Amino acid sequence: MPFQRVLIVADIEGSSGCWNYAASSFLTPEWANACADMTKDVQAVVQALLRAGVTDIIVKDFHRTGYNLLPEKIDHRARVDSGYALGPIPGMGDPGKAQAVLFLGLHAASGTDGFLPHTMTSRLAAVRVNGAPLSEVSLFASLLAPYGIRPVFFSGCPAACRQAAVGIPGISTYSIDKQTGPEGFDAQAWRQGLAQGALASLANHAVRPLDGNGPFNVEVFFRDGAAEALKAARRWRLEQCGDGVRFEIRDLPALFLTLSRICYLRPAWLPLLPLALPLYRLMGRAGLQWARHRLKRLPAPSF
Ligand SMILES: [Zn+2]
Repeated sequence: MPFQRVLIVADIEGSSGCWNYAASSFLTPEWANACADMTKDVQAVVQALLRAGVTDIIVKDFHRTGYNLLPEKIDHRARVDSGYALGPIPGMGDPGKAQAVLFLGLHAASGTDGFLPHTMTSRLAAVRVNGAPLSEVSLFASLLAPYGIRPVFFSGCPAACRQAAVGIPGISTYSIDKQTGPEGFDAQAWRQGLAQGALASLANHAVRPLDGNGPFNVEVFFRDGAAEALKAARRWRLEQCGDGVRFEIRDLPALFLTLSRICYLRPAWLPLLPLALPLYRLMGRAGLQWARHRLKRLPAPSF
Protein backbone atom coordinates (compact mmCIF):
# COMPACT_ATOMS: atom_id res chain seq x y z
CA MET A 1 0.00 0.00 0.00
CA PRO A 2 1.58 3.33 -1.05
CA PHE A 3 2.09 5.97 1.62
CA GLN A 4 -1.06 8.03 2.21
CA ARG A 5 0.26 10.82 4.40
CA VAL A 6 2.99 12.90 2.84
CA LEU A 7 5.21 15.84 3.66
CA ILE A 8 6.64 17.90 0.80
CA VAL A 9 9.71 20.04 1.54
CA ALA A 10 10.05 22.62 -1.24
CA ASP A 11 13.09 24.71 -2.15
CA ILE A 12 13.61 27.07 -5.08
CA GLU A 13 17.10 26.48 -6.53
CA GLY A 14 16.15 23.19 -8.17
CA SER A 15 12.65 24.29 -9.18
CA SER A 16 11.70 24.97 -12.78
CA GLY A 17 11.79 28.80 -12.76
CA CYS A 18 15.11 29.47 -11.01
CA TRP A 19 17.85 29.87 -13.60
CA ASN A 20 20.33 32.18 -11.85
CA TYR A 21 21.35 33.46 -8.43
CA ALA A 22 19.04 36.50 -8.68
CA ALA A 23 16.05 34.16 -8.95
CA SER A 24 16.95 32.62 -5.60
CA SER A 25 17.43 36.05 -3.93
CA PHE A 26 14.77 37.89 -1.94
CA LEU A 27 12.77 40.66 -3.66
CA THR A 28 14.18 40.47 -7.17
CA PRO A 29 12.00 40.40 -10.30
CA GLU A 30 13.53 37.03 -11.19
CA TRP A 31 12.60 35.70 -7.76
CA ALA A 32 8.96 36.72 -8.18
CA ASN A 33 8.78 34.70 -11.40
CA ALA A 34 10.59 31.78 -9.79
CA CYS A 35 8.01 31.77 -6.96
CA ALA A 36 5.25 31.37 -9.56
CA ASP A 37 7.03 28.46 -11.24
CA MET A 38 7.99 26.79 -7.95
CA THR A 39 4.30 26.97 -7.03
CA LYS A 40 3.35 25.29 -10.33
CA ASP A 41 5.87 22.49 -9.68
CA VAL A 42 4.44 21.83 -6.22
CA GLN A 43 0.87 22.05 -7.49
CA ALA A 44 1.63 19.46 -10.21
CA VAL A 45 2.88 17.03 -7.58
CA VAL A 46 0.03 17.78 -5.17
CA GLN A 47 -2.58 17.16 -7.89
CA ALA A 48 -1.00 13.86 -8.91
CA LEU A 49 -0.90 12.68 -5.28
CA LEU A 50 -4.50 13.72 -4.61
CA ARG A 51 -5.72 12.00 -7.78
CA ALA A 52 -4.00 8.82 -6.62
CA GLY A 53 -5.81 8.95 -3.28
CA VAL A 54 -3.17 10.43 -0.97
CA THR A 55 -5.17 11.70 1.99
CA ASP A 56 -2.85 14.10 3.83
CA ILE A 57 -0.36 16.50 2.27
CA ILE A 58 1.64 19.13 4.14
CA VAL A 59 3.84 21.39 2.02
CA LYS A 60 6.73 23.00 3.86
CA ASP A 61 8.15 26.08 2.11
CA PHE A 62 11.85 25.88 2.92
CA HIS A 63 13.70 28.59 0.99
CA ARG A 64 15.14 31.77 2.55
CA THR A 65 12.28 33.39 4.51
CA GLY A 66 10.06 30.32 4.00
CA TYR A 67 7.59 32.44 1.98
CA ASN A 68 7.99 31.65 -1.70
CA LEU A 69 5.00 29.48 -2.56
CA LEU A 70 1.66 31.07 -3.43
CA PRO A 71 -0.73 28.96 -1.32
CA GLU A 72 -3.81 30.28 -3.17
CA LYS A 73 -2.53 28.50 -6.33
CA ILE A 74 -2.11 25.13 -4.63
CA ASP A 75 -5.04 22.75 -4.15
CA HIS A 76 -6.56 23.66 -0.81
CA ARG A 77 -6.73 20.01 0.25
CA ALA A 78 -2.97 20.29 0.80
CA ARG A 79 -1.85 22.43 3.72
CA VAL A 80 0.90 24.89 2.80
CA ASP A 81 3.03 25.61 5.85
CA SER A 82 5.10 28.76 5.23
CA GLY A 83 7.85 30.28 7.37
CA TYR A 84 10.18 28.73 9.90
CA ALA A 85 9.23 27.33 13.28
CA LEU A 86 11.32 26.82 16.41
CA GLY A 87 9.88 23.36 16.98
CA PRO A 88 9.02 20.59 17.49
CA ILE A 89 11.30 20.03 14.50
CA PRO A 90 13.76 22.95 14.29
CA GLY A 91 12.85 25.04 11.26
CA MET A 92 10.12 22.69 10.04
CA GLY A 93 7.65 22.74 12.88
CA ASP A 94 5.03 20.00 13.09
CA PRO A 95 5.25 17.24 10.44
CA GLY A 96 1.76 16.00 11.28
CA LYS A 97 1.29 12.28 10.73
CA ALA A 98 3.44 12.14 7.62
CA GLN A 99 4.84 8.72 6.66
CA ALA A 100 7.06 9.89 3.82
CA VAL A 101 8.81 13.07 2.71
CA LEU A 102 9.35 14.32 -0.83
CA PHE A 103 12.10 16.91 -1.38
CA LEU A 104 11.34 19.18 -4.35
CA GLY A 105 13.65 21.78 -5.89
CA LEU A 106 16.71 21.20 -3.74
CA HIS A 107 20.35 21.81 -4.69
CA ALA A 108 23.85 20.33 -4.43
CA ALA A 109 26.14 20.73 -1.39
CA SER A 110 28.64 23.53 -0.76
CA GLY A 111 31.99 22.83 -2.36
CA THR A 112 30.60 20.57 -5.10
CA ASP A 113 29.55 20.96 -8.73
CA GLY A 114 25.95 21.61 -9.52
CA PHE A 115 23.55 24.52 -9.92
CA LEU A 116 23.86 27.14 -7.12
CA PRO A 117 25.42 24.55 -4.78
CA HIS A 118 25.33 25.41 -1.08
CA THR A 119 24.80 23.89 2.35
CA MET A 120 22.76 26.23 4.57
CA THR A 121 24.18 29.40 2.95
CA SER A 122 26.36 30.37 0.00
CA ARG A 123 28.77 31.95 2.53
CA LEU A 124 30.07 28.46 3.30
CA ALA A 125 32.67 27.23 0.80
CA ALA A 126 32.36 23.61 1.93
CA VAL A 127 30.91 21.49 4.73
CA ARG A 128 32.49 18.06 5.18
CA VAL A 129 31.32 15.30 7.46
CA ASN A 130 33.88 12.56 7.99
CA GLY A 131 35.60 13.95 4.90
CA ALA A 132 32.57 13.86 2.56
CA PRO A 133 30.48 16.84 1.36
CA LEU A 134 27.27 17.29 3.34
CA SER A 135 23.98 17.96 1.51
CA GLU A 136 21.05 19.69 3.16
CA VAL A 137 18.80 16.76 2.26
CA SER A 138 20.70 14.53 4.71
CA LEU A 139 20.23 17.10 7.48
CA PHE A 140 16.51 17.52 6.76
CA ALA A 141 15.91 13.77 6.46
CA SER A 142 17.66 13.21 9.79
CA LEU A 143 15.41 15.79 11.50
CA LEU A 144 12.36 13.85 10.28
CA ALA A 145 13.72 10.38 11.10
CA PRO A 146 12.67 10.36 14.80
CA TYR A 147 9.08 10.70 13.53
CA GLY A 148 9.50 7.59 11.38
CA ILE A 149 9.25 9.66 8.18
CA ARG A 150 10.91 8.05 5.18
CA PRO A 151 12.78 10.17 2.61
CA VAL A 152 11.43 8.63 -0.60
CA PHE A 153 11.88 11.29 -3.30
CA PHE A 154 14.31 14.04 -4.26
CA SER A 155 14.45 16.46 -7.16
CA GLY A 156 17.19 18.95 -8.07
CA CYS A 157 20.07 19.32 -10.55
CA PRO A 158 21.86 16.09 -11.62
CA ALA A 159 24.73 16.66 -9.13
CA ALA A 160 22.24 17.24 -6.30
CA CYS A 161 20.40 14.03 -7.24
CA ARG A 162 23.66 12.05 -7.21
CA GLN A 163 24.54 13.41 -3.78
CA ALA A 164 21.06 12.65 -2.42
CA ALA A 165 21.37 9.05 -3.66
CA VAL A 166 24.71 8.69 -1.86
CA GLY A 167 23.43 10.22 1.38
CA ILE A 168 20.12 8.36 1.32
CA PRO A 169 20.48 4.94 -0.33
CA GLY A 170 17.36 3.91 -2.22
CA ILE A 171 15.80 7.39 -2.54
CA SER A 172 14.12 8.02 -5.92
CA THR A 173 15.42 11.04 -7.81
CA TYR A 174 14.25 13.21 -10.71
CA SER A 175 16.64 15.78 -12.11
CA ILE A 176 16.45 19.15 -13.82
CA ASP A 177 19.37 20.08 -16.07
CA LYS A 178 20.06 23.82 -16.00
CA GLN A 179 23.28 23.86 -17.99
CA THR A 180 21.62 24.97 -21.22
CA GLY A 181 19.41 27.69 -19.71
CA PRO A 182 15.65 28.21 -19.82
CA GLU A 183 15.40 28.65 -23.61
CA GLY A 184 13.80 25.55 -25.04
CA PHE A 185 13.11 24.09 -21.60
CA ASP A 186 9.70 22.42 -21.64
CA ALA A 187 8.46 23.19 -18.13
CA GLN A 188 5.15 21.42 -18.59
CA ALA A 189 6.70 18.16 -19.75
CA TRP A 190 9.31 18.36 -16.99
CA ARG A 191 6.62 18.95 -14.36
CA GLN A 192 4.65 15.97 -15.62
CA GLY A 193 7.72 13.78 -15.13
CA LEU A 194 8.26 15.28 -11.69
CA ALA A 195 4.70 14.46 -10.65
CA GLN A 196 4.94 10.91 -12.03
CA GLY A 197 8.24 10.30 -10.26
CA ALA A 198 6.94 11.68 -6.98
CA LEU A 199 3.83 9.51 -7.19
CA ALA A 200 5.79 6.34 -8.01
CA SER A 201 8.10 6.95 -5.03
CA LEU A 202 5.19 6.51 -2.61
CA ALA A 203 5.34 2.75 -3.21
CA ASN A 204 9.00 2.73 -2.15
CA HIS A 205 8.98 1.01 1.23
CA ALA A 206 12.64 0.03 0.95
CA VAL A 207 13.94 3.44 2.10
CA ARG A 208 14.14 3.70 5.87
CA PRO A 209 14.10 6.86 7.97
CA LEU A 210 17.67 8.20 7.75
CA ASP A 211 19.97 7.08 10.53
CA GLY A 212 21.72 10.34 11.38
CA ASN A 213 23.79 8.97 14.23
CA GLY A 214 27.51 9.69 14.31
CA PRO A 215 29.81 10.59 15.82
CA PHE A 216 30.98 12.83 13.00
CA ASN A 217 34.10 14.88 12.38
CA VAL A 218 32.86 18.11 10.86
CA GLU A 219 34.81 20.73 8.90
CA VAL A 220 33.13 23.99 7.85
CA PHE A 221 35.00 26.27 5.42
CA PHE A 222 34.08 29.91 4.83
CA ARG A 223 34.08 31.65 1.47
CA ASP A 224 35.45 34.82 3.09
CA GLY A 225 38.39 32.89 4.53
CA ALA A 226 40.30 32.85 7.81
CA ALA A 227 38.87 36.09 9.27
CA GLU A 228 35.33 34.69 9.05
CA ALA A 229 36.50 31.32 10.43
CA LEU A 230 38.10 33.08 13.40
CA LYS A 231 34.86 34.95 14.17
CA ALA A 232 32.82 31.73 14.08
CA ALA A 233 35.41 29.89 16.18
CA ARG A 234 35.38 32.61 18.85
CA ARG A 235 31.60 32.96 18.86
CA TRP A 236 30.83 29.28 19.17
CA ARG A 237 34.00 28.01 20.91
CA LEU A 238 35.18 25.92 18.01
CA GLU A 239 38.64 25.02 16.78
CA GLN A 240 39.78 27.17 13.87
CA CYS A 241 41.94 25.65 11.17
CA GLY A 242 42.82 28.03 8.33
CA ASP A 243 39.71 29.03 6.40
CA GLY A 244 37.48 26.80 8.48
CA VAL A 245 36.40 25.49 11.84
CA ARG A 246 36.47 21.90 13.00
CA PHE A 247 34.43 20.06 15.61
CA GLU A 248 32.99 16.68 16.55
CA ILE A 249 29.27 16.10 16.84
CA ARG A 250 27.07 13.18 17.88
CA ASP A 251 24.43 13.22 15.13
CA LEU A 252 23.02 15.08 12.11
CA PRO A 253 20.11 16.80 13.95
CA ALA A 254 22.66 18.32 16.36
CA LEU A 255 24.77 19.32 13.36
CA PHE A 256 21.76 21.08 11.80
CA LEU A 257 21.41 23.19 14.95
CA THR A 258 25.13 23.96 15.12
CA LEU A 259 25.28 24.93 11.43
CA SER A 260 22.17 27.12 11.83
CA ARG A 261 23.94 28.94 14.65
CA ILE A 262 27.22 29.32 12.79
CA CYS A 263 25.48 30.60 9.65
CA TYR A 264 22.75 32.86 11.00
CA LEU A 265 23.10 33.56 14.72
CA ARG A 266 25.23 34.86 17.56
CA PRO A 267 25.19 33.54 21.13
CA ALA A 268 23.59 36.74 22.48
CA TRP A 269 20.70 36.37 20.02
CA LEU A 270 19.60 32.91 21.20
CA PRO A 271 17.22 34.14 23.94
CA LEU A 272 15.70 36.60 21.44
CA LEU A 273 14.77 33.97 18.86
CA PRO A 274 11.14 33.57 19.98
CA LEU A 275 10.74 37.32 19.40
CA ALA A 276 12.77 37.55 16.22
CA LEU A 277 11.07 34.69 14.41
CA PRO A 278 7.64 36.38 14.12
CA LEU A 279 9.37 39.47 12.71
CA TYR A 280 11.24 37.34 10.19
CA ARG A 281 7.95 35.72 9.18
CA LEU A 282 6.40 39.16 8.77
CA MET A 283 9.23 40.13 6.45
CA GLY A 284 8.70 36.94 4.46
CA ARG A 285 4.95 37.55 4.14
CA ALA A 286 5.53 41.16 3.04
CA GLY A 287 8.04 39.98 0.43
CA LEU A 288 5.62 37.42 -0.96
CA GLN A 289 2.89 40.07 -1.14
CA TRP A 290 5.29 42.20 -3.20
CA ALA A 291 5.88 39.21 -5.50
CA ARG A 292 2.11 38.73 -5.89
CA HIS A 293 1.58 42.34 -6.96
CA ARG A 294 4.43 42.11 -9.39
CA LEU A 295 3.14 38.88 -10.91
CA LYS A 296 -0.30 40.44 -11.39
CA ARG A 297 1.19 43.42 -13.22
CA LEU A 298 3.62 41.40 -15.35
CA PRO A 299 2.59 37.80 -15.96
CA ALA A 300 5.55 35.44 -15.58
CA PRO A 301 7.14 34.32 -18.85
CA SER A 302 6.32 30.68 -19.45
CA PHE A 303 9.21 28.67 -20.79
ZN1 LIG B 1 16.87 27.51 -1.20
